[in-house]
Amino acid sequence: MSHGICQPVGTSVLGQRLDDVADIARINREVRANSLDLLQTSHTLAGIDMALWDLLGRRRGEPVWRLLGHDQSTRKTPYASQLFGDEPQETRAKGKAQREAGFRAVKFGWGPYGQGDASTDAAHIAAAREGLGEDGILLVDAGTVWVDDVAAAAARLDALIEHRATWLEEPFISAALGAYKALAERAAPLRLAGGEGAHNFHMAQQMIDYAGLGYVQIDAGRMGISDSKRVADYAAQRDVRFVNHTFNSHIALSASLQAFAGHEQDDICEYPVEAKPLSREITQSLIERDSDGLVCAPDAPGLGMEIDTDALARYLVQVKITVDDARLYATPDVP
Ligand SMILES: [Mg+2]
Repeated sequence: MSHGICQPVGTSVLGQRLDDVADIARINREVRANSLDLLQTSHTLAGIDMALWDLLGRRRGEPVWRLLGHDQSTRKTPYASQLFGDEPQETRAKGKAQREAGFRAVKFGWGPYGQGDASTDAAHIAAAREGLGEDGILLVDAGTVWVDDVAAAAARLDALIEHRATWLEEPFISAALGAYKALAERAAPLRLAGGEGAHNFHMAQQMIDYAGLGYVQIDAGRMGISDSKRVADYAAQRDVRFVNHTFNSHIALSASLQAFAGHEQDDICEYPVEAKPLSREITQSLIERDSDGLVCAPDAPGLGMEIDTDALARYLVQVKITVDDARLYATPDVP
């Protein structure tokens, strides 16, 4: 340790008391103050923050969304989140397949989009609309491919508007606020979405205030549940829609749904459909769609998800970190 504000996150967490919601806020403040100069702090604290909310909810017998002040868990339209096909016909087939699987909303992202010329991208957007059908909700994720190049992104707007995409996500890296704003001014009626790269409330606040976003997408795995809730409330004040960003497990999905569970206007949510086996096996159950094809944060204590430790054991890798003879870390026993 070189100085007082780069302490390991654990030093501010282990041994703390957790009796109340206020304790979670206090632990968050202590971690940030003591580990201010560590770039990893937000992500590490995000996991701890989720665990604190889950623990307190289980002890109280209340779902996290209720501890956060929501009085209901409203149902959201889940969008199937998947990669573009390599060729337009594959994109069309992927859209059709998700429609047949019961998803009305589908997001296509990354892959070839933005890597070639604008006409190839337009062919993918047309194919996506065709596969999805006229009444489907089409969402497009450029995966920061244009970094901060407004002209390159603007060349894609006509096709997105013609095929009625609801949003264009992450045309640029999160910090390129000026580029976002310039594109947003040219994009209507298309809205811009972004925010998955925000590591804390203040980063998301900057995007809401200065990037011209229509949708702010927050990953509880990056900023935790406490900050996600602050963003959801701030977005509501600024007439920006809040959406979760979740591309892996259903425990992450539950954690990401808590912040906006009670917000009826935030009625769409990301739903992972191309998850790796570990992401599906980590929990004993999944957040399934109801008979209307909608999902909501579980009405069960904490995050409402049970870890499947037997399934997890198959993926366990034994790690030991020692410096001289002092053991800094060893993989804990999994019960
Ligand atoms: Mg994205």
